[in-house]
Amino acid sequence: MPSIIQLLPDHVANQIAAGEVVQRPASVVKELLENAVDAKATDIKLIVKDAGKSLVQVIDNGAGMSVTDARLCFERHATSKIRQAEDLFSLHTKGFRGEALASIAAIAHVEMKTRQDQDELGTHIIIEGSKFVSQDVAVLPKGTSFAIKNLFFNIPARRNFLKSDVVEQRHIIDEFLRVAMAHPNIHFTLYHNGSEMFNLPQSNIRQRIVNIFAGKTNEKLVPVKESTDIVSITGFVSKPEFSKKGRGEQFFFVNDRFIKSGYLHHAVMAAYEGLLKEGCQPGYYIYLDVPPHTIDINIHPTKTEIKFDDEHALYAILRSTIKHSLGQFNVAPVLDFERDPNLDTPYDYKNQEASVPTVQVDRSFNPFAEDRQQRQTYKKPDTSHWEGLYVGLKHDTETISPPAEIHFEHEEVTASLFDEEESRHEVAKMFQIHKKYIVNPIKSGMVIVDQQRAHQRILYESFLVNMTVRQAASQQLLFPLTLYFSRTEMELIAELEESLVNTGFVFETHGADHAVISGLPVNVSESEASIVLEQLLGDLQDGIPENSFSQNDSIAKSMAKSLAVKTGTFLTEKEQENLVNGLFACKEPNVSPFQKPTFITMRVEDLDKKFAL
Ligand code: ADP
Ligand code: MG
Repeated sequence: MPSIIQLLPDHVANQIAAGEVVQRPASVVKELLENAVDAKATDIKLIVKDAGKSLVQVIDNGAGMSVTDARLCFERHATSKIRQAEDLFSLHTKGFRGEALASIAAIAHVEMKTRQDQDELGTHIIIEGSKFVSQDVAVLPKGTSFAIKNLFFNIPARRNFLKSDVVEQRHIIDEFLRVAMAHPNIHFTLYHNGSEMFNLPQSNIRQRIVNIFAGKTNEKLVPVKESTDIVSITGFVSKPEFSKKGRGEQFFFVNDRFIKSGYLHHAVMAAYEGLLKEGCQPGYYIYLDVPPHTIDINIHPTKTEIKFDDEHALYAILRSTIKHSLGQFNVAPVLDFERDPNLDTPYDYKNQEASVPTVQVDRSFNPFAEDRQQRQTYKKPDTSHWEGLYVGLKHDTETISPPAEIHFEHEEVTASLFDEEESRHEVAKMFQIHKKYIVNPIKSGMVIVDQQRAHQRILYESFLVNMTVRQAASQQLLFPLTLYFSRTEMELIAELEESLVNTGFVFETHGADHAVISGLPVNVSESEASIVLEQLLGDLQDGIPENSFSQNDSIAKSMAKSLAVKTGTFLTEKEQENLVNGLFACKEPNVSPFQKPTFITMRVEDLDKKFAL
């Protein structure tokens, strides 16, 4: 047989590549705006007609191009932004692939005018469907103008696929605002069908946000600021009372590039926990600066998702920074588990070092599993956020040794939640009521824990940790289990495979209807396996979340729900104690994974009041 492989001609290759780069007029807007930013323009105009279907034009006052570059920029892999692979790790530009202009020119009519500052005359090029139509010398202002007409003129299927002008224009505005927000030091204007829609003068970030979103925006912004070795954070979040139903203005920028991140979104939401009305979301405009080598922006073709080296640290820093800002502006709740306990020291103890109680917590604790062998040993959990609650309470004699010399000033301290007095008395033990709540005496009154929700929280966090660090322990089954599923369930399982494996499931799918399970997460017993999986598939039937973080989140929630000890289950003293300790060792002890309160506190004064009636 003769050889049949051929290299594709450039214009065909470009058209194919264009399919990835240019999905709609808004993609052209993004590429051209980013090129103008990369060219160090200080003034950028975007002119759009018919939602970009007939014209997208970007005029900048940036560096411009030489005659040679003006011609070269339309070649595939033609870029001035990187020279070698290593440059990818120190990127300071938006573009680097060198394929945007080649792609756009392959599927539209392009007119380009460009002049460098030092040249007297500029270059005027017309290129249509990858074919150079004309090239002239021309008198031009400094900078570059790209006019893209008749997008997809040679791919009718693509053109027909475009949505209504309203929808396409919405996409264009989104892209425009993302770039404009990332660069407040550049003057941006947007004209649509001859009228000016946005005129955003050079300003600071706050002013830019206010100019864009207008209305009461200025009133609702709370500044956020933090600087560490791995990240600098600036920007704004909205005060909780301005939160809205559904996602509204939520923006992350990393090194001046708009990105989407379900994981970081979660960090922001966690900072607001307890502050938002049901179903409401805050607005945020957050700018992260990280060393370029610690991110990989290559991972997603349209580059709105990036990968960070140390996502976990970023999450923690972001969350606590926002929490701190909300607190500073007096919008955080009074009961704040993350407050530095030293700040709460009663007057008597000021300037004396706080001693940290040591608390052993078994995070894998499952009250169903009293006699199960496979207990995991976890890292000692971070207890800093709840230790205040139990200081002087339980392990007092061994762990809280008062400083050698205490100079009591005998000032009446009434506001203190806990004090050393307590350590002299045996504190009453916790107990369960109605097989539902665990009542837990503390100095100021009592904490009442909902056993089911508390256990959901503990399991949820432990699953999530296992999944994100990908080191879930799995228990090997001596006799593998065969479970039968419907076709749609089998499809779901295949889609969820990675997350399930990260949770600790070991399995193989066979044919169209069954899976053989040879390993289970440590928290799941053999008899629970099918229930857990069925519940999980049921919960996810309405759609699998698109990114792996939300996927993990949904799985962790579902499994926590099916495995948590239920209301109506009797718990031994030891189990109660483990449950309560486990809860307060969680990152977010106050709510269940479904945002329901896990415990309430009742103060002695509250009780007194009731008796005073
Ligand atoms: P990339 O941005 O990935 O380098 P592009 O195809 O978008 O690839 O652009 C190719 C090259 O053309 C750029 O690297 C840059 O040198 C030049 N260029 C594009 N747009 C402009 C502009 N507005 N001003 C000056 N140079 C530009
Ligand atoms: Mg580019």
